[in-house]
Amino acid sequence: MPADARDAFDRPLRDLRVSVTDRCNFRCVYCMPKEVFGPAFQFLDREELLTYEEIERLARLFVARGVEKIRITGGEPLVRRGLPGLVRRLAAVEGLRDLTLTTNGALLPAQAAPLREAGLRRVTVSLDSLDDAVFRAMNDVDAGVEVVLAGIEAALAAGLGPVKVNAVVRRGLNDHTIVDLARHFHGSGVIVRFIEYMDVGTTNGWALDHVTPAAEIVARIDAVLPLEPADPNYRGEVARRYRYRDGGGEIGVISSITEPFCGDCTRARLSPEGSLYTCLFGANGFDLRALLRAGADDAELSEAIARVWRVREDRYSELRTEATSGLARVEMSHIGG
Ligand code: SAM
Ligand code: SF4
Ligand code: SF4
Repeated sequence: MPADARDAFDRPLRDLRVSVTDRCNFRCVYCMPKEVFGPAFQFLDREELLTYEEIERLARLFVARGVEKIRITGGEPLVRRGLPGLVRRLAAVEGLRDLTLTTNGALLPAQAAPLREAGLRRVTVSLDSLDDAVFRAMNDVDAGVEVVLAGIEAALAAGLGPVKVNAVVRRGLNDHTIVDLARHFHGSGVIVRFIEYMDVGTTNGWALDHVTPAAEIVARIDAVLPLEPADPNYRGEVARRYRYRDGGGEIGVISSITEPFCGDCTRARLSPEGSLYTCLFGANGFDLRALLRAGADDAELSEAIARVWRVREDRYSELRTEATSGLARVEMSHIGG
């Protein structure tokens, strides 16, 4: 039995985010701006992607090294063909405690039931605003709010709850609509998590003054729907929780810019072509696919994973300055957030 992996700062390896595609049916302006991800953009070829068999094999090895939770992401994971087949394989991995998925929700009406049936337990659905014009401008493919709300309904009907909603807040685009979003889901059991706009990738034109700080988000909601802080559910939880004082549920804020949480970061990320990243802001990953396809056995692969984790010193968000946001790094739509 291999030992749990610990990094250079003694952080254990607990979470794995698996990006299954670099493609997406949306073009969110903060993630895949059309000027860059247009018709000429070279996405990965099919044979470059890890197969579901390869992902399952790696997942087992990650779990043996301490991973308890896997999140499937993308690009948009639901555009990859046969995704329930991957879910079925991952749900059967012994020792895995939690299996979830992040999606823009547009394809959930067709896929929620097969995903649940395959063993998915929960989903997070991204929805940045309930104002239709604002939302259409943000996803930039003219997808209306009703498309995503239908996806959330389908997830709940299929038993994929409690559903979480991710909303990226970009000042000047949707920050004036956050209270409406909170109010809409207040009392519904759906937990909205507001995410500070991050300098992920190098194509979204990020600047510090585009960020609405988490404290401001909380204050604006608290003024209308009073909130109180709630304890984290577990060590390393990314979202800071706030409970409605009237018992109407809770919200979360993810303050990676104003209050970084690298000290508790237990997340590894696997790219669609099988590179292992130990930070969302990494420039290069470790090529596990090369090892896999060269015929490495499980022990060699497992040792490679542990070796990469052992030397990990990442704490990008704690070191962030305006200058670091220009450094080379992987795109969010590739690695999946
Ligand atoms: N396509 C799926 C979706 O949108 O849910 C999964 C992949 S997406 C990259 C994962 C999450 O990252 C989404 O909730 C998205 O809103 C968030 N995200 C993308 N770009 C971001 C940015 N620049 N800052 C903060 N969050 C971002
Ligand atoms: Fe696609 Fe998700 Fe990025 Fe939007 S945030 S472009 S839905 S990958
Ligand atoms: Fe983890 Fe890197 Fe984000 Fe820090 S910046 S929380 S190390 S992914």
